Amino acid sequence: MTIFTLKLPMQGPLKYINSYLVKGNEESVLIDTGLPTQEDVTTLSNYLKAYGYPNFVVITHYHPDHMGLVRLFKDKSIILISDRELEYVTYLLSEEYEKEMRKYLLANGFPEEFIQRMFRNRSRFSEIIDGVNFNTVKDGDVIKLGQEQMRVLLTPGHTMGHICLVYEKVVFCGDHILQDITPNISLLRLEDNPLKAYLESLDKVQKLDIELLYPAHGEVLKDVSKRVEEIKEHHKRRLEEIMNIIRTLGKTSGFNIASRISWYKKWDELSAFDKQLAMGETLAHIKYLVEEGFIREVNASGSIYYTMSS
Ligand SMILES: [Zn+2]
Repeated sequence: MTIFTLKLPMQGPLKYINSYLVKGNEESVLIDTGLPTQEDVTTLSNYLKAYGYPNFVVITHYHPDHMGLVRLFKDKSIILISDRELEYVTYLLSEEYEKEMRKYLLANGFPEEFIQRMFRNRSRFSEIIDGVNFNTVKDGDVIKLGQEQMRVLLTPGHTMGHICLVYEKVVFCGDHILQDITPNISLLRLEDNPLKAYLESLDKVQKLDIELLYPAHGEVLKDVSKRVEEIKEHHKRRLEEIMNIIRTLGKTSGFNIASRISWYKKWDELSAFDKQLAMGETLAHIKYLVEEGFIREVNASGSIYYTMSS
């Protein structure tokens, strides 16, 4: 098996998304596709001219830097995504998503301007997948590249249908584990508990015998267990910080909590996009604390507040 790393430019601190072209003795697979920008179309096309066209394209999750150029392959390759992720995409394109989340975010005290922004890009999203015929895979499925085969590992958390691909002691992990940042965990559907799912998915990967972990951003990782521990520690600290905020304020809203968390910059200095990520991240942690019984959700005349359980 030969692995080609295709570095596709993107703006922001991550700089690149790594697409991986993996060639077996007969067939090949492209893992993730890059952003729907002209720059990435050109870069990706040049790589594929040099290394060959893939038989399969696997989308680790629906985010635009991963799924953005999937349409380029719609007539030439078999396109694979997890059944759960495809179901999630359908949910995110539905009116129900906007209606339900808008109501929930308003009740949590988030200002209308954030909420507006969150739903702004939904039409661009349907353009990305227009005309694409997805084939679904589920946990444990195998993709055959000749004698060699890759196994699908479902790792919900960063998105609820996120998958990794496992080949012997090599794992392609999408955005599940990254070295330079902790992957964003956001609540996007009320019945989800994405942080709980994510922590379980970290355990799942930590239990594997891995020599090399190929992430979608940054360099290849060798000490996976160490990185998993660091990420778990980060979430533990954030959960404690949220409980401290609730203890101090007695009873408070999701928005108040989000604006008091020690993000990498002060709340007022965060970009609109960062605030959106921070909002999702806060609600995911709150959801976890509610379901674990550490805090309580109180509904009072259309508003939601949080208090300590005891
Ligand atoms: Zn992502």
